[in-house]
Amino acid sequence: MAYSYDDQNIFAKILRDEIPNDTVYETDHSLAFKDITPQAPHHVLVIPKGKYVCFDHFANTASDAEIVDYIRAIGEVCKMLGIPPGDGGNGYRLLSNAGQDGVQEVPHLHVHIVAGRGLGRMLNPAAS
Ligand code: AMP
Repeated sequence: MAYSYDDQNIFAKILRDEIPNDTVYETDHSLAFKDITPQAPHHVLVIPKGKYVCFDHFANTASDAEIVDYIRAIGEVCKMLGIPPGDGGNGYRLLSNAGQDGVQEVPHLHVHIVAGRGLGRMLNPAAS
C-alpha cells in the first residue's frame, strides 16, 4: 500500500490547533467536530488523530487501540446527537469518501455523520 500523507491538509492543521474547529467530542486517538458546510441539521466529522489518508489506510495500518477508539468515538457521537434508532432516534448515515471516485476533498480519514432529516437515496444516480 502506498499512501503519502500531506501534513498541510486542513484536518492536520486542525489537529495542530493552527485553525479553529467546533469540537463535539475528543479522545486520545480521535476528534469529532462540526462540518463547516453542513449538509443536514446534524453533520459531524470524526477523524483519527493519526496520519491516515483514508479508511483502508487506517484499517490496514492503525493499531488496535486506535481502531477501537475511533469506532467507539463514532458511536459515542451518534449517542450524543440522539440519533441511534435503537435509542428512539430517527437514524443517520455514515459516509467516508476516498480518492478520486469517492470525491475525497480532504486527504485525512474522516467519517461524516449526517442526520436530522430524511437523507434520500444512498447514491445520486446522476453523478458521474
Ligand atoms: P470530503 O469530500 O469527504 O473530503 O469532505 C470534506 C469535508 O470537510 C466537507 O464536508 C467540508 O465541508 C469539510 N471541511 C472542510 N474544511 C473544514 C473545516 N475547516 N472545518 C470543518 N469542516 C471542514
